[in-house]
Amino acid sequence: MSRSAHPAGPRHADVLPEGHYTAPPADLNALDPKVWAGSVTRDADGAVRVGGVDVREIAREHGTPAYVMDEDDFRARARAWREAFGEGADVYYAGKAFLSKAVVRWLHEEGLNLDVCSAGELATALAAGMPAERIAYHGNNKSLAEIERAVTVGVGHIVLDSFQEIVRVAHVAQSHGVRQKVLIRVTVGVEAHTHEFIATAHEDQKFGIPLAGGQAAEAVRRALQLDGLELAGIHSHIGSQIFDMAGFEVAARRVVGLLAEIRDEHGVELPEIDLGGGLGIAYTSEDDPQGPHEIAKSLGEIVGRECEGAGLAVPRISVEPGRAIVGPTAFTLYEVGTLKPLDGLRTYVSVDGGMSDNIRTALYDAEYSVALVSRASDAGPMLARVVGKHCESGDIVVRDAFLPDDLAPGDLIAVPATGAYCRSMASNYNHVTRPPVLAVKDGGTRVIVRRETEEDLLRLDVG
Ligand SMILES: *Cc1c(COP(=O)(O)O)cnc(C)c1O
Repeated sequence: MSRSAHPAGPRHADVLPEGHYTAPPADLNALDPKVWAGSVTRDADGAVRVGGVDVREIAREHGTPAYVMDEDDFRARARAWREAFGEGADVYYAGKAFLSKAVVRWLHEEGLNLDVCSAGELATALAAGMPAERIAYHGNNKSLAEIERAVTVGVGHIVLDSFQEIVRVAHVAQSHGVRQKVLIRVTVGVEAHTHEFIATAHEDQKFGIPLAGGQAAEAVRRALQLDGLELAGIHSHIGSQIFDMAGFEVAARRVVGLLAEIRDEHGVELPEIDLGGGLGIAYTSEDDPQGPHEIAKSLGEIVGRECEGAGLAVPRISVEPGRAIVGPTAFTLYEVGTLKPLDGLRTYVSVDGGMSDNIRTALYDAEYSVALVSRASDAGPMLARVVGKHCESGDIVVRDAFLPDDLAPGDLIAVPATGAYCRSMASNYNHVTRPPVLAVKDGGTRVIVRRETEEDLLRLDVG
C-alpha cells in the first residue's frame, strides 16, 4: 500500500511511515556523506559549503531554487565506474538521468561512453563533442528521422527494441551503404526494484523483445540475415534503484543462455552483452548501495561463471549507470517561504520550487532527505513535510523529514541526491520556470544550464 493512500483517508494519514524516521536523527546539523556530494561540509559558522562555495553566496548570486552539482564528485564517480570495469568492459552513462553539454565533456574526458534515447539527447551529446562511436542509441519507438540521424552520424550501437525496428534500422543502414552495429534488447523475465526482484516467465512491459516463447531467438535470426546490420550482442536492463545483485544474476544467466542458443543454431558467438543500469543510490541514511568496484566484481564473476557453464568465451560487458553516477553529485537548494504547523500532524514547509523540479516523490513515492543549510540550529526536531508552490496537493518534495523547529521563512534548505531524474524530468507546470544547474568546483560556481525565464516561456507561445 502506498503511504499516501491511508485507508481512513488523507486526514488520517498522520502515522509515520513504517520503518522510516520513527525517531528524529541524533544531530539535525549532521550531513550524512552517503547522501551528500563529496565536497559538502558544514562550516564553523554553521552554513554549508560545496566545492568550497557557501550556499548562501550561491543563493545570493544565482537565486533559488537551483540544482547545485559538485563537479569533482561527478568526475570521481564517473572515473570510479570506468576504473572498476577496466579495459575489458564499457561504461555507458545513461544520459536520461541528467544530460548537458558540460556533463558530456566530463564524461568524454573521464573515458565513459554515453547512452541517448532521443534526437534531443543525441544533439546534446554531439554538440559537446562526444565521438559518435561512443554513443549508444536506445528507445522503444525511435522515429525514422531519429534512426536516419543515428546511422548517418555513425553512432556506435543502436539498441533494437522491436521486430519493426530490426527492419527499419537495416533498411536505413543499407540505403546509406553501411552496416550498423546493433544490440537486441531482450526482456529476461526479471523485474528488479530496490531490495526485491521478481523473476517471471514473461514480461508485461513495453521495452525489449521477450526471451519467452522464442521471440528473442527469432529476432536474432532475422537480424543475422540482414546486410545492413552487424549484430554485436544482447542487451538487458532489469529495473531501477537496485541494491541487490540477485536480479542481475538471473538476467545474466538468461542472456548467456541465449548466447549459447545462438552459437548452437547459427555457429556464431556474439561478442558483447550489455547488462543495463539501475544501480541504486542512497536517498536517505537507511539506503546502503554498493560501490562500482563491488558491482563490477559481482557482475564479472556472474558472467564468467555462466559463460564457463555454457562453454562460451566471456563477451565484452557493458553497463549503463545513470543515477549511480549523477544522483549523489547534486542537491536542490530552496528558500523556505511559509510554514504551516498542523497540530498533532506535522509542519508543512513550503519552498520556492516543488513538483516541477522534482517529480519523483509525486510520481514514485520516492524518499528524500532534507537539511537546513544556511545556518546550524540547536533547536529541537520538528516533523516536517517539504512541499512546493504548485496548485496541487500532491506537490510534495520530501514526505517526512525532521527539520529544526526554529526553521523560518528565508532559511535555505537543501534536498540531497537530486542529480538524477530531477532536472531531466522537470516541467513548466503552472508556468514555473525551470531552475538552473550550477557546477561548483574549487571555490567557483559556473552555470551549466541557465535558469529558464518568462521570456523563454513566452517565446514558445506564438499566440
Ligand atoms: C534508465 C536506463 C538506464 C539507467 O538507469 P539508472 O537507474 O539511472 O542507472 C540504463 N539503461 C537503460 C536501457 C535504461 O532505460
